[in-house]
Amino acid sequence: MSNLRALYQEVILDHSKNPRNFRVPDPVDRFGHGINPLCGDKLTVYLHVVEGVIDDISFEGSGCAISTASASMMTQQLKGKKVEQANALFEQFHELLTSAVGEDTTDDELGKLSVFSGVREFPMRVKCATLAWHTLQSALSGEITAASTE
Ligand code: ZN
Repeated sequence: MSNLRALYQEVILDHSKNPRNFRVPDPVDRFGHGINPLCGDKLTVYLHVVEGVIDDISFEGSGCAISTASASMMTQQLKGKKVEQANALFEQFHELLTSAVGEDTTDDELGKLSVFSGVREFPMRVKCATLAWHTLQSALSGEITAASTE
C-alpha cells in the first residue's frame, strides 16, 4: 500500500507540473467545459473525433494537482481510442474511485489510471479526479454547456 501511495504522489506531481496535451488542438470539433465548485477546478476538454475514434484530445484550465493530473492522464489514455471505449473506461474509473478502500482495484484496462485509487482515502477529492471525465462526457455529447460535478 505504501508503494502505491508513493507512486500516486509521484504520478500526480509529475502530471500536474507537466500536464500532457495541455493545448487547443487543431482541428477541434467538440469541446466541453467543466467546473468543480467545491475546489475551484475549471477545465475545458477539446476533442477531434473521426469516425467514432478520438483522433485528438487535449485540455486547458486551472485547478488543483489532482484535477490537472487526472485530465492529463485521461488525454494520454484516450487518444486513438473509440468513443465507446472511452465511455467504458470512464465507468471503470468511476467504479475504482467509489469502491471501498482496501478493495482490490487491479484492473488492466485502467493501466496507469489505477494510481487514482489513492484518491478514495480523500472523498472530497474524488470530484477533482472525475472532473475531466465528466467534462469529456459533456464534450462527447456535443453540448456546449458547462458540466458540473454538483
Ligand atoms: Zn480539485
